[in-house]
Amino acid sequence: MANQFKPETLCVQAGWSPKKGDPRILPIYQSTTFKYDTSEQMARLFDLEDSGYFYTRLQNPTNDAVAAKIAALEGGVAAMLTSSGQAANFYALFNICQAGDHFVCSSAIYGGTFNLFGVTMKKLGIDVTFVSPDASDDEIIAAFLPNTKALFGETISNPSLEVLDIEKFARIAHSQGVPLIIDNTFPTPINCRPFEWGADIVVHSTTKYMDGHAAAVGGCIVDSGNFDWNKYAEKFPGLCTPDESYHGLTYTESFGKMAYITKATAQLMRDLGSVPSPQNSFLLNLGLETLHLRMRQHCSNAQKVAEYLESCEEVSWVNYCGLPSNKYYALAQKYLPNGSCGVISFGLNGGRDTSIRFMDALKMVAIVTHVADARTCVLHPASHTHRQLSDEQLIEAGVRPDLIRLSVGIENADDIIDDIAQALKA
Ligand SMILES: *Cc1c(COP(=O)(O)O)cnc(C)c1O
Repeated sequence: MANQFKPETLCVQAGWSPKKGDPRILPIYQSTTFKYDTSEQMARLFDLEDSGYFYTRLQNPTNDAVAAKIAALEGGVAAMLTSSGQAANFYALFNICQAGDHFVCSSAIYGGTFNLFGVTMKKLGIDVTFVSPDASDDEIIAAFLPNTKALFGETISNPSLEVLDIEKFARIAHSQGVPLIIDNTFPTPINCRPFEWGADIVVHSTTKYMDGHAAAVGGCIVDSGNFDWNKYAEKFPGLCTPDESYHGLTYTESFGKMAYITKATAQLMRDLGSVPSPQNSFLLNLGLETLHLRMRQHCSNAQKVAEYLESCEEVSWVNYCGLPSNKYYALAQKYLPNGSCGVISFGLNGGRDTSIRFMDALKMVAIVTHVADARTCVLHPASHTHRQLSDEQLIEAGVRPDLIRLSVGIENADDIIDDIAQALKA
């Protein structure tokens, strides 16, 4: 689908272009496999000499149509869906890192990603150094080693809501000859397109705003096609030298700008298999069709709720980058001029125990381990999602022990504020 369309049009139209007599909306290709007429046809598919479907673990038409829509929204050349955001983050790095390699990562990231990078990937022999996203160029560059293969950060971190200076991170990554990978889950491409600021690869947990209805867990990796792997061929042998598991094919030679996503699909998805079900991709596509409308409502509601919370004497602090008092207001004005996301964090006078009592007093707003869907919800990361982290790690990840994460939905803002007001009184 033509990339010249504006984001609202891409949300509705991109990815699926039916021909004469085809279903009007994206069909669910609920099939593990696909039929061919001759043995020769099938052989050419396995050699990557022809494109076509043969087994859903590698590619499926429903999944591919949704991946193409997300690629168009981000302004990338290709994308691959995964069965979760965790799988997307793992594949994005594992596609260019192997045992003995290292990458540098902003410390302001999602707790699940922090565990994946800091614990599980270390067991695979891939090491990480965390840096403060607010550190200077020199401090961040000091974390780079000869075996460093990537720099990673979140546009708006979950749940600490720090806004990343993407241009600074891109400048640093490129000065060190590695790609910048950005988790763009919270703003979505409606509010920020990291490729326009120099990022090379974008990852998403589509579980959040993209799906938007808390219906399906999923993830996505998008490649800008801009990073010149061959310029640093000695660093990226997986892309720039023959793949023995694919008859000696070299991805950059055979696929050019599509090399990174083709390798992720043909090699990692083939071997590790975190493929989404076509049913889930269908649900994700329904969510994407209204993403632009929902993001607008999430952001305007969150702005009102954040301003209300800031005016409450029971509230000790509010973190929302749309507030002029916020540390990241200037960066948000630059990277997120149309709004950031619907997630706010705040603390109450009285600390941790008061936070828990407040949450239990809410009536409409529900306590759920989720964020970024249509219904307003709350979570106390220190007792829920980030329970595995020590107090020290919590602070390092930018999560205060009294922090309440409020994910503002698309209801009427007054009803959300009324529920918060009655719970504060209680
Ligand atoms: C939720 C989340 C993830 C993990 O995604 P899942 O779909 O839950 O696996 C990764 N990054 C960010 C920023 C998230 O919010």
